[in-house]
Amino acid sequence: MPDGYYHYCDVSLPVPLDQPFTYALPETLRHRVAPGCRVLVPFGPRRLTGVVLRTHDDPPAMEAREALRLIDAQPVLDEELLALGKWIASYYCAPLGEVLRGMLPLASEIRKGKIYSLTDAGRDAARQLLLEVAAEDPVAQVLRALESRPLSAAYLAKKLPLADKVIRSLEKRGFIFPEQLHEDRDPLRAPSDRLLVELAATRPEAKLSKPERELVAFLELHPGAHNLKDLEASVRGASGAARSLGKKKFVVLKREPMPISGVWAARAPHSLNPPQREAFAQIHEAIVSRKFQTFLLHGVTGSGKTEVYLNAIDTALAAGRGALLLVPEIALTPAMAGQFFGRFGDQVAILHSAFTDTERAEQWRKIRSGAASVVVGTRSGVFAPVRNLGLIVVDEEHDQSYKQEETPRYNGRDVAIVRARSAGACVVLGSATPSLESRYNAERGKYTLLELPDRVEARPMPHVELIDMRVEFLETRKQATFSRRLLEAISLRLENGEQTMLLLNRRGFSSSVACRACGERVNCVNCSLTLTFHRRDRRMLCHYCNYAEKVPSQCPKCQSEHIYFLGLGSEKVEEELHRELPKARIARLDRDTVSGKRHYESILQNFREGHYDILVGTQMIAKGHDIPNVTLVGIISADIGLGFPDFRAAERTFQILTQMSGRAGRGNLPGVVLIQTIQPDHYAVRMAGKHDYQAFYERELEFRRCMRYPPFSAMANLLVRSEKQEVALRMSADLGHFLTPPPEQLKIMGPAEAPVPRLKNEYRYQFLIKAANRAALSELLHRARHFAVERKWGATALVIDVDPVTLM
Ligand code: ADP
Ligand code: ZN
Ligand code: ZN
Repeated sequence: MPDGYYHYCDVSLPVPLDQPFTYALPETLRHRVAPGCRVLVPFGPRRLTGVVLRTHDDPPAMEAREALRLIDAQPVLDEELLALGKWIASYYCAPLGEVLRGMLPLASEIRKGKIYSLTDAGRDAARQLLLEVAAEDPVAQVLRALESRPLSAAYLAKKLPLADKVIRSLEKRGFIFPEQLHEDRDPLRAPSDRLLVELAATRPEAKLSKPERELVAFLELHPGAHNLKDLEASVRGASGAARSLGKKKFVVLKREPMPISGVWAARAPHSLNPPQREAFAQIHEAIVSRKFQTFLLHGVTGSGKTEVYLNAIDTALAAGRGALLLVPEIALTPAMAGQFFGRFGDQVAILHSAFTDTERAEQWRKIRSGAASVVVGTRSGVFAPVRNLGLIVVDEEHDQSYKQEETPRYNGRDVAIVRARSAGACVVLGSATPSLESRYNAERGKYTLLELPDRVEARPMPHVELIDMRVEFLETRKQATFSRRLLEAISLRLENGEQTMLLLNRRGFSSSVACRACGERVNCVNCSLTLTFHRRDRRMLCHYCNYAEKVPSQCPKCQSEHIYFLGLGSEKVEEELHRELPKARIARLDRDTVSGKRHYESILQNFREGHYDILVGTQMIAKGHDIPNVTLVGIISADIGLGFPDFRAAERTFQILTQMSGRAGRGNLPGVVLIQTIQPDHYAVRMAGKHDYQAFYERELEFRRCMRYPPFSAMANLLVRSEKQEVALRMSADLGHFLTPPPEQLKIMGPAEAPVPRLKNEYRYQFLIKAANRAALSELLHRARHFAVERKWGATALVIDVDPVTLM
């Protein structure tokens, strides 16, 4: 009994109260429960799953209730990850139970058979034994099979002789451990974009509803399997109808295979150019000397950062260690994953939010068993149970999607650094536009700066021109979307068979609907935000809560009939473009046209293959895509983001302009970038135009220093919210009193109406806190949280956001 024999365990539960709860262990569980395992316990009238923090023999003051069931035979969180969870809970001021729950991809309700993996002891034993015994030996066969990946008992029994007996004996010796295999209750409960529907070969007699009849008619016209989500564009209510028809056996529903699979051709690695080699040499050195070190790899767009990552991963693997690569949500495409499969084969695991629970759990097991030692994942991938972690790469480290915008509000990049520190691993943060914080850390010597100043193979940086739209207006007397210069440039590309990407930071047809007579704008009923007009279905939509309504024919306030449309959206840009350039083939990419990951990929793929001349899109198109035939990038308006009431507005604008410019001229043809703006003198716009990160950084740093914004202070945002305005006001007043006077070194601004004062039917007030001392800030935030718990504000009434990335 390696884990001892204890009578009690302390369990962290996903509830707002922060302390662990002590449970008694029934006889049968005493020797099996260990820290990091999940257990099912009674909590009030409910049953909850929690994570064991500690096992012990200290009788609690009050009589403890009994734990009900052990869910994992081996800990799902090792000591290192448990410690990381505790750090997150404390730093981001979030309940530990919720943090731990968020770190695990495994659902725990339904069980279906057992799945076996090798333990560390089993791995060693296997190595030894396989040298000694004949290949046909039943024990050797089972061990060899499990060395490559975890397998279910049923699979082993089918494939190998005597497997049942061998499994029992190996389990008893602690060489393998079983885990309950959980499967989604019903495979057809998968999200619509992962389901295919097809007419059944023989169909029963049945009375069908109208949507069902419409779907059947469509399927008769278009035989074959269709993706449910895609169908919704053609048949109203397709997805519901397909599911109900499935129950009647009228159609066949099946799962679409995983969007990212492991079949890829290997590509020969590039040999590194001198700056790449220089950067890699330093990373290599850190990995082999097994020391914690953080590098900031600042490389311009197209400088070949990925090749440096791949080499660093090689080094980690050669040193017998695992590697983790984090990428922004939108960047994890099949093409991207393909590069890694091509290079590292089946050792790669992918953690992606588009996967179902079952798929994610499968990947997670493959990692924990040691079968996968290279993990590519989005934000929460930072918790992957990689064995013997030696390297974490965070690509596009400045990206906002690393910040989780719900509790626990952690930043994946920062968590990566903390995890690497305790694992003695090396971190590489890569970006063409490093965040101010990271660049400043490099300046202070906390990180090591590595630079790739030029594009590979001496390809030139694109030529950038700023187009002053105020001058354009004076000269043409027209409020045009496209300047003459931009239209000309696009036409030229059309003639030459080259491609154009156009960026607009707003989806929908125009940004809002307003009344000419009284100026009233049409707002969402749940949020104090204007609704966006969508031409395709003539609706106005709230982009925060999805509330929709028809465009009114009269002003709701003054009854005037002069309703008009303000602003500009990607849908409208597309339409105007059609008018100006009737022959152009235009595709659009934004959250309206893209429902699933797959769909997004197929639009991009078609563009890459030359089926379109122009791609219009929101900032979704700014990241990472490498399309050689794009020689023109147009930015319709650089100004949209600059107006946001957020201290990062300039930084964000600089980043998006630079990233977007980076899409031009990545092949052998040189690229041109045209930026339309009414603020050509703004430093973010000017420096982006000159590819001058350094100048931007210095200027922005000065602004932050003057205003005591990060990185010159630690910041937090306390948000109080309630559906009732009086309640929200009273809570924020109470909290205001509690926080007064603020401790030294802290400056509290608020309570004030939040920039979005009403959202999803809740009124919102906020306190913005700047602190010269992080410990003092943390102490204050924990006190604020206890105050809310004591006052019994609901679990969601107080939001604590440490190091906020957006204040909107
Ligand atoms: P970044 O991420 O820095 O924008 P990428 O890593 O996407 O740049 O590299 C840009 C292109 O250059 C890719 O097509 C890549 O295959 C190629 N590349 C990378 N390193 C080299 C090299 N040493 N020689 C030639 N081509 C390279
Ligand atoms: Zn009006
Ligand atoms: Zn809304």
